Amino acid sequence: MSNTPPILDPVELEQAARNYGTPLYVYHAERITYQYAKLSKAFQSSNAQFFYACKALTNVNILKVILDLGAGLDCVSIHEVRLGLHAGFKPQQILFTPNCTDLDEYIAAKELGVHINIDNISILEQFGNRFGSGYPVCIRLNPHIMAGGNFKISTGHVDSKFGISIHQIRHIERVVKTTKLKVTGIHMHTGSEIKDIGVFLEGLEVMFNLASHFPDLEFIDLGSGFKVPYQPGDSETDIDTLGSRVSEAFHRYENETGRKLQVWFEPGKYLVSQSGYFIVKANVIKQTPATVFVGVNSGFNHLIRPMFYEAYHHIINISNPHGAERIYTVVGNICETDTFAWDRKLNEVREGDLLVFHNAGAYGFEMSSRFNSRLRPAEILFKDGRAHLIRERDTFEDLLKGQIEI
Ligand SMILES: *Cc1c(COP(=O)(O)O)cnc(C)c1O
Repeated sequence: MSNTPPILDPVELEQAARNYGTPLYVYHAERITYQYAKLSKAFQSSNAQFFYACKALTNVNILKVILDLGAGLDCVSIHEVRLGLHAGFKPQQILFTPNCTDLDEYIAAKELGVHINIDNISILEQFGNRFGSGYPVCIRLNPHIMAGGNFKISTGHVDSKFGISIHQIRHIERVVKTTKLKVTGIHMHTGSEIKDIGVFLEGLEVMFNLASHFPDLEFIDLGSGFKVPYQPGDSETDIDTLGSRVSEAFHRYENETGRKLQVWFEPGKYLVSQSGYFIVKANVIKQTPATVFVGVNSGFNHLIRPMFYEAYHHIINISNPHGAERIYTVVGNICETDTFAWDRKLNEVREGDLLVFHNAGAYGFEMSSRFNSRLRPAEILFKDGRAHLIRERDTFEDLLKGQIEI
């Protein structure tokens, strides 16, 4: 594996925009491969398995790239499970980790034969009463560790709706014992963008302490939260150090207890964020008493992360790379405040210029909508040096599709 990450250059991006129009999502298969190789290498001395958290980006062609890498899928809805099976994953390569879904959805997942991760005592009890020792399950626990900087993306705190509190372990044990459920895995996922690897290691110790309650345990799932850099100079989770510390911890646990467990991870962002680029066109340059706005032909209907999470996405003007740097506020074209970036230095932007958002692979297209009756963008996948159209741009007919005129 080469040490420089594969990137798409402005010429390739400009050509894609010329051929397929804007706004346009562009993904780079080789970058996904590169990210996966980094992850596998970091955890090579652990008995590790990776399940791509596909809610980040579910285009079937992306799922097939993941399948070819040998990874599994983490799915949060029965439809993601079906997409995974459609893409060619075997049921045992799929982990179903929903929350607040009803028993019927768990039963559907069981019938499809995938791994099931249960995140509340009500379902644990119902599933156990129904299937007992007949179908193994994993239990999602909340270790009460605060992780990540942003409340919206942190899931391990006490107010979180995710997982079963570790303080309810006695209740879990009662349900498991009475229903004879076979618990083969315990899981935690404390949030996204965890810079501090101590959070994973602390969580792992909590999981090891609880493992003694589960004699059938085969794996500990540490979820995800691997951070990637968004701003220039931004840090990312130190996965090499994490990899060796996790491996040490599992070997120590094995020596102490004689139990050999696998470690599972569910990376979403880490695999696909940097593989994605979002290309928009500057529609208008608008001077106000306060700032210079660049109004582009998109909005939070296509990329919601800046408005929803206050996320930073690096933006580059590929049409005027040598233009003088000016300060802009980049906004969208929908009738709602939809600011992509305040006070951003860009090479001078002229109407018609193409701007590229970086890190657009994860939670970009996937969280898009047709708000304002605007059409969702097309998606392109660069693979082996070729651009493939993997989703058509919406058409006007898509706005009417499914509507019944009475
Ligand atoms: C969203 C999610 C992930 C992936 O999180 P990233 O920050 O994208 O890596 C993993 N596991 C579960 C259960 C999730 O809900």
